[in-house]
Amino acid sequence: MAELPELRILSRQMDHELAGRRVEQVLVNQEKCLNLPVEEFAGRLSGRTLAAATSYGKWLRLALEDGQVLLINPGMGADIRYHGPGQDWPEKYQFGVTLDGGAGFSVRFWWFGHVHLLAQEERASHKPTAGLGPDALSPEVTREWLAGLLRKGSRSAIKNVMLDQRRIAGIGNAYAHDVFFEARVHPLRVAGSLNEEEISRLYTAMVRVLERAIELGGVERDFYGKGGNEDSWGDLMIIGYKEGKPCPACGSSIEKIRTGSTSGFICPSCQPAAG
Ligand SMILES: [Zn+2]
Repeated sequence: MAELPELRILSRQMDHELAGRRVEQVLVNQEKCLNLPVEEFAGRLSGRTLAAATSYGKWLRLALEDGQVLLINPGMGADIRYHGPGQDWPEKYQFGVTLDGGAGFSVRFWWFGHVHLLAQEERASHKPTAGLGPDALSPEVTREWLAGLLRKGSRSAIKNVMLDQRRIAGIGNAYAHDVFFEARVHPLRVAGSLNEEEISRLYTAMVRVLERAIELGGVERDFYGKGGNEDSWGDLMIIGYKEGKPCPACGSSIEKIRTGSTSGFICPSCQPAAG
């Protein structure tokens, strides 16, 4: 599982290790994760210098000095690992890059993911990313912007609106539970039914939950194979995945409910179904 916090942590570490390094070899063990034939992909990437790494929603973006951008989407999750000079590489990975100076990184998708290389002029027509909403922690996403988003999705459940990457990018089902709990709103409330105070609470909760997860290291291991809370989700999540445990605010039992095609965790007392 990789949502905004995990990708933000990775991208900061990737930026630290990769910016200014030149790509030597491009290693591809699964051509179908690429957007180009492997020869063309490798030809366009080798010899180029990486300028900066950032994340956007559930995508990692490595900008190259020549204006191209390398995009990585981990899908359900991926081990994206840095290998210093002389360090062992994993046995299995779908994509990797070696860099000048002997370091490199590998990408092992757990299920299926994407590695796309785009020229500057191809970015606007790249279907998977061109249609994304703004990153949930970008400066563009203000309380007023969120109020507008909820009005536009007025008859949908807020959970559907907040998880729709075309509207706002980066929140998935893992952190959504805590966002709605911290806001004290039920995830199936109709978006347009939230009052001004609830919208303010939702905005504050979204920022707080995502930033807290970044601070605590997210769920997954990082670029160095360290950190994360894979075995201790309980320390990271507030009520998410805690069915039957007491609500930290009121003591009621946390419930697991169906929210469309996904599950949700709520406190029935703190998050009443109707506003
Ligand atoms: Zn409660």
